[in-house]
Amino acid sequence: MSNFRIIRTIETKFGINVVKYKSNRTSLSAILVDIEAPLVSGFFTIPTEATDDDGCPHTLEHLVFLGSELYPYKGVLDTLANRAFAQGTNAWTETDHTCYTITTAGSEGFLKLLPIYVDHILYPTLTESGHYTEVHHINGKGEDAGVYSIYFKNYRVVYSEMQGRQNTCDSRVTLQYQRLMYPEGCGYRSETGGLMECLRHLGVEKIRQYHHDYYRPDNLCLIITGKVSHSELFKVLDPLDDRIASKGNLPPRKRPFVDSAPIALLEKSIQETVEFPDEDESMGQVVIAWLGPTIDKFLDLRTLEILYEYLSDSAVSVLQKEFVEIEEPLCTDIDISINEQTRTAILATFENVPTEELEDLVTGLFDVFKRIVNEGIDMERMKSVIQRDRLKTLDEIEVDPHNVFSGHCIVDHVYGKETGEDLEIAVKDLSYYDQLLNFSEGQWIEYLKKYHIDNPHIALLGCPSAKFSKKLIDDELKRVEKQRETLGPEKLKELEKQLGKAKELNESPIPPQIIENFPVPSVESITFINVITGRNKSEEKYKNIVQDYLDRDNLADIPYFIQFDHINSAFVTISIHITTASIPDHLRPYLEIYLESFYSLPLNRPNGEHLTFEQLVNELNKDTVSYEHNWGVRGFEGMICFSIKVEASKYATGIQWLRDLLWNTEFTAERLKICATKLLNDIPQTKRDGYQMAINVLQTIQYDRLRSNKYVLGTLNQEKVLPEAIKLLEKNPNKAIEMFAKLKEILISPENFRIHVSGDIMKLPNPKSTWAEYFKIIPDIKPLSPIPSPQSVLTESGHSPGNKGYIVKLPAIENSFAIHSTKGPNTFDSPDLAPLLVLCELLHIMEGVFWRVIRGQGLAYSVWLKVTVETGIIQFSTYKSPDAYKVYDQARKIVNDLASKKVEFDKSELEGAKSGVIYGLVSKEDNIQKAAAESFVLQVLNNLDSGFNKKLISRVQAVKFEDLHAMLIKYITKLYMPETSNVIVISTPGKVKDIQEGFNTHGFNLEVKSLDKVIN
Ligand SMILES: [Zn+2]
Repeated sequence: MSNFRIIRTIETKFGINVVKYKSNRTSLSAILVDIEAPLVSGFFTIPTEATDDDGCPHTLEHLVFLGSELYPYKGVLDTLANRAFAQGTNAWTETDHTCYTITTAGSEGFLKLLPIYVDHILYPTLTESGHYTEVHHINGKGEDAGVYSIYFKNYRVVYSEMQGRQNTCDSRVTLQYQRLMYPEGCGYRSETGGLMECLRHLGVEKIRQYHHDYYRPDNLCLIITGKVSHSELFKVLDPLDDRIASKGNLPPRKRPFVDSAPIALLEKSIQETVEFPDEDESMGQVVIAWLGPTIDKFLDLRTLEILYEYLSDSAVSVLQKEFVEIEEPLCTDIDISINEQTRTAILATFENVPTEELEDLVTGLFDVFKRIVNEGIDMERMKSVIQRDRLKTLDEIEVDPHNVFSGHCIVDHVYGKETGEDLEIAVKDLSYYDQLLNFSEGQWIEYLKKYHIDNPHIALLGCPSAKFSKKLIDDELKRVEKQRETLGPEKLKELEKQLGKAKELNESPIPPQIIENFPVPSVESITFINVITGRNKSEEKYKNIVQDYLDRDNLADIPYFIQFDHINSAFVTISIHITTASIPDHLRPYLEIYLESFYSLPLNRPNGEHLTFEQLVNELNKDTVSYEHNWGVRGFEGMICFSIKVEASKYATGIQWLRDLLWNTEFTAERLKICATKLLNDIPQTKRDGYQMAINVLQTIQYDRLRSNKYVLGTLNQEKVLPEAIKLLEKNPNKAIEMFAKLKEILISPENFRIHVSGDIMKLPNPKSTWAEYFKIIPDIKPLSPIPSPQSVLTESGHSPGNKGYIVKLPAIENSFAIHSTKGPNTFDSPDLAPLLVLCELLHIMEGVFWRVIRGQGLAYSVWLKVTVETGIIQFSTYKSPDAYKVYDQARKIVNDLASKKVEFDKSELEGAKSGVIYGLVSKEDNIQKAAAESFVLQVLNNLDSGFNKKLISRVQAVKFEDLHAMLIKYITKLYMPETSNVIVISTPGKVKDIQEGFNTHGFNLEVKSLDKVIN
């Protein structure tokens, strides 16, 4: 008999059942969520409470991965995970819990890994040397931390992680909110990540004590989502539980937060300014916080969530209309969310607020609230918000069941009743939607008054400051300088030695038998999702029930290319992919504004009905679950796509909408200007993102400046285009509108269309002929335009990278980012593809080659290789590094040593690398909607067989160790040579000189540029 008994079994209507178990011996709990899917995920959750800013919860999250009682080797967990069809492990720390995660393809590897993972969580080694290298130390140069090594799983130095995030706008505002909202001694007040000044003094003893207090079996819950046999699971868990029990009894458990003092209500409102470092002082952030209902008030919380949807969900919602959809927007984005705590907190965040408007926005918000109280709620729209939210909940369960259900389970484990009754309500009950539909206007107003008008608040104005930025840098330099002086050269030498010793202690090699004894699971244990494809025009290759069904629907001839993908879904997604190759150069820059305005223009229906833009948004929201636009699907940068998801019963309505949006909307200067301004205001934030900028700058080198969307719609180009467009819309609105009309006319020629319908095709009454009735049928369509090859818009430097690159200074960041590119295979049938993918995985996998010489040495948060067949380019990316040159230098050295066979690949890592590639291929189709989308990408965009990924998996399995060396010579070594690679580095200004000198000693000729000089 098993140690584990069932606490509660919950059957939901979504075909997903949940069972909560608890051990009779150790009170370890497990929640199993039964999901039919190829991936299995684990969320191993420990509630943690901290009353100071030392960061014990977060440092533990890192130290757990350094080895355990039974497996006392750093990296052993990830090395084994890599063999289990997983891509490493991960973890996060929130204010109230730490969660350790793993996702595997199939359950076989998952079950093998589970007891090893739990051994790490409950019995980590927590050594002095581990603490020294991974939490904080002072290196021989007198600098703190060695700057990187315990960050989350990918980057393990805690101190460096906090250095990178402690002073961002978000972090500074959040911490100040916590300080003002919660009293001393309350766990919600703490920075559980650990403040740098605290981490510098945190000793390992304190962390060990913290582990002892919180990492106990009765505080741990193993949340598992996916297809796992319960009996197989207990074959693994029972012996583990016995071992835990053998460690002896524990004192009674105090539940974190639940057994702590309740949160006191705020007595009066407070407003404060919080500075954050940024050279660009134009845009800030506003956060307003209130305390909400206690966590057990299920209906109150759902009510508030709906109220916030109503207030901010779309262009016609009250707050968006007031603050975003205006000529001079006060912000670009509004988010109101509820923090789940014993007493919840409600945070309204306004992004990209012009600095001079920060205060007015707060006043403005309360004015709007008061106005709603006086003028009332639009009950018609509220009804549509509730219905849409219900559909969205159902849709999320289809798209992301692992995260939806694990989210509920985590909250239950931290705050719920032990009986599982709160969990049952959370995962099962959608009847609150019916209750909310019956709410009167007065009830909604009551909620707004109670929680937002009569309830004291904290308003924080996040204000960018160049002076503060400089001060932070100066202070830190001074502090380190002083530290260096105080320590003196002798002591520094000693510290350097001490660090070396600690590293050595941490790096004791994993005995090969541990790895070899961990069996590689079989691919057969993975259950793939079955998608059945048919086409509008019957094609020889499709002989299946879906094609038969489509062929029988022959009431009308539909002149379009349509692919139907059948999945077991409650929704239908209708997408139209449009090639942009025929857009003339002078109009292409305005495509971005067109895309942005697509769903928010006035509409003239063929029946004479006129809808204002607000009415259109309202109606569209009523009829759909979601709608979106994007461009550059999977590297096909010349394609744009509009996509509408509806309940299956609204298939015809979805088609009709697509017709109206394509042909019957009307451009107005006012709407276009609002869209352009919104896009423009988003730019400063994007420009603070070092990695995004690296991508953008590289695109300016590798893509054609006139014909490529990547160049033309890129942030740097749009920053120049948008103000001109706005000016034109103001000065000569008619000319501007004419231009947009021309752009649209060229774009929406039917020969540019490829349509995709995915959903339960067999349940649609007339999947084909519905198009005749509800779409625009244009006779004599020209032959379908070819799909523009991404390679056709590459520049010479894009086709054959070499001798191109810059270093770009970015004051808003504290570290550096880089991308190196070189030529790769450019066809999917290339025999190089499978071995190259395995090689890349072997190099950048967790605990792999790059990991050891780069991440493990604290040189970067992460590095990875990416092979893009569509463009024939391979990239090496460096993400958050104190010095991107040093990363390059290490990568180059190790790659050259491998090439010259001075260093050999570790043969035992081959299976791990293959399993990593296989995991990546499986996760491309890990839910029904993704699987259907992948079917279109493969068959239509790439002109491949729908089973391509499965075939590639077999090719990957067949890769031999001997195949790798040739790939290294042919491709990877070229990434690090100046004549065969392009390099972009984005760096904090202080490091630019070092980085430039470093690269130039290797024959690169990197010019330093400021961001606004990249294109001219
Ligand atoms: Zn971390």
